[in-house]
Amino acid sequence: MLLRSGFRPDHVTFVGVLSACAHAGLVDKGLGIFHSIKDEYGIEHTADHYACVIDLLSRSGLFERAEEMINTMSVKPNKFLWASLLGGCRIHKNVRLAKWAAEALFEIEPENPATYVTLANIYASVGLFDEVENTRRIMELKRITKMPASSWIEVGTRVHVFLVGDKLHPQAEEIYALLKKLYLKMREEGYVADTGFVLHDVEDEQKQQDIGYHSERLAVAFGIIATPKGAPIKVFKNLRICGDCHTTIKLISKIVQREIIVRDSNRFHHFKNGSCSCRDYW
Ligand code: ZN
Ligand code: ZN
Repeated sequence: MLLRSGFRPDHVTFVGVLSACAHAGLVDKGLGIFHSIKDEYGIEHTADHYACVIDLLSRSGLFERAEEMINTMSVKPNKFLWASLLGGCRIHKNVRLAKWAAEALFEIEPENPATYVTLANIYASVGLFDEVENTRRIMELKRITKMPASSWIEVGTRVHVFLVGDKLHPQAEEIYALLKKLYLKMREEGYVADTGFVLHDVEDEQKQQDIGYHSERLAVAFGIIATPKGAPIKVFKNLRICGDCHTTIKLISKIVQREIIVRDSNRFHHFKNGSCSCRDYW
């Protein structure tokens, strides 16, 4: 795969490789690569590497191993690691570890509504409705409100920031034209916009706005224009990616044949050839 001879991987390369293992749920392979980062390549593990492995383990329901790794890891767990664990707990309804992850997230990022919503969803899934109510009350007490969504991308040494429907960028015309072209292609393939993502209720505000021009799409389109053909595109978003953008970016990755990485407030999405490493669960 990526680790051919003559190619010197760096710590960022490994985030991509580990995410690719998440694509296929390849736990052993992922762990093997994780260990090789240090043992074979002499690169220190970063918090992002750990976050990828915790994602892989907790999605596969291997919570004991995840817990052990978190307790013994050599760097401080970051918010992506905790959010990955929380996401895994949602799939497997693990309330004990969900609480642990949420506590850590509340400390790192007390204002992020996604943590509260995910935790409440986990409680609801196991019938703990008092806890659901409790979580809602805390959210209200703390006046957790929505932040405006924004996405950004680094090209060269510059950071380009986009808001929904943003036309301030000097290349806005080109960006919108490209998206229109891509949408046309998608329609030909039978794609219909999806605005009904119930689990993403924190982003109602976003949902009502023009879905075709959410910030992450503008940033991705700009990435396609501003980077060489075939180069991977890496976009950041301050909130969770919305369901429709997720579907759209999957299709875009296929149409333009590019790897697209979106790092949202919760996790990495590694889009490649029409699918995403989160396997549509985040
Ligand atoms: Zn969106
Ligand atoms: Zn995804």
